[in-house]
Amino acid sequence: MQWFDHNATSPTAPEALAAWNAASAEHWRNPSSPVPAAARTHAFLDALRARVAAIFDERDPGCVVFHSGATEGNNAVIASAARRPGRMLVSAVEHPSVAEPAKQAFGDRLTVIPVDADGVIRLDALAAELLRGDVALVAVMAANNETGVIQPWMRAAELAASHGAKFLCDATQWLGRLPADGLVRLDYVVAGGHKFGAPKGVGLSLVRRCDRVYAGQLGGEQENGRRAGTENVPAAAAFVAALEAANAEMLPMLADRIAWRDAFEDAVVSRIPGTVVNGAGAQRLWNTVSLTPPRHANTRWVLKLERRGFEISTGSACANGSGKSSRVLAAMGRSEEEIRRTVRVSGGRFTGASDWAALADAFVAVSEELDADTSGSSVIIV
Ligand code: PMP
Repeated sequence: MQWFDHNATSPTAPEALAAWNAASAEHWRNPSSPVPAAARTHAFLDALRARVAAIFDERDPGCVVFHSGATEGNNAVIASAARRPGRMLVSAVEHPSVAEPAKQAFGDRLTVIPVDADGVIRLDALAAELLRGDVALVAVMAANNETGVIQPWMRAAELAASHGAKFLCDATQWLGRLPADGLVRLDYVVAGGHKFGAPKGVGLSLVRRCDRVYAGQLGGEQENGRRAGTENVPAAAAFVAALEAANAEMLPMLADRIAWRDAFEDAVVSRIPGTVVNGAGAQRLWNTVSLTPPRHANTRWVLKLERRGFEISTGSACANGSGKSSRVLAAMGRSEEEIRRTVRVSGGRFTGASDWAALADAFVAVSEELDADTSGSSVIIV
């Protein structure tokens, strides 16, 4: 079976498994225990923090806070920011782990900033809201989980800074796929690890040390007082190993990966006329394609492709569980009917040219099969 749903999760990378096993055997003690072996585990955790800081080009490892995942990191940043006076601005395409806590914590102090038809935040609308003043926090993700559309996060962060607002960037779909170094200039960066080969249940936030308001959860003094709870050292080790492995091959592979994705899109669009690539006019992640074929419900595409050995998705994994329609595609102006036809494919570190080509062939075969299934009916079944 070919896994084409890496935006939902990736299989655990071999480097991460090895690191998890080694750390579980050697560093199972509580880093806060007073015995020398526990102090070694504490030092090991600090060394992991330093390795993450190096990837972000950050000089202060104290900025790195390990979490149970991006959901926790986003919740922590937003809850902390809501303790300050002021409004919050979010893009209309944020992940629910940003959109929902923002609604809850900021209530009527929250304003949603629209995106254009390609799913890119409208910087003019962001600037206009910032001009109205009193903004405590702006959240704009790095890359969208449903479409792969890359947001102008650096420009948005500069705008926020020029109005004295803090900036949160959810980089969950970016980290491990594109270089991390520029992110360090932002106030808060959050990412989970399981999209690039770390196990599920581990992520990080990057927070300025001087930010005294920031506290994810209360209790113990772990993570420099930022996130109470006994540290999951093996998971942190696996996170760092997976990130380093993904990073090492990122730039040498980038041009090829973009070419493979483009060839896939060209093949599907030319061989199934009427297919639309969502966000086609924007810069997008090399691994993600959101497609709206001209006919048939997305659930039927998913089932038929699965029978041919390809696991893809109808949209975001988080939205799938709830049965809710895609807020992201709706914000881009897509109709309910178009959304019901939309599928998402997302490759990973080990997805190669032949995998993308085989997926394109499978799409064409499934298209013919679905057309044949429904031919003779005067109703177009979507
Ligand atoms: N943000 C984005 C953009 C995501 O795609 C996801 C995962 N679907 C999350 C946050 C939540 O990540 P986690 O599973 O690590 O909590």
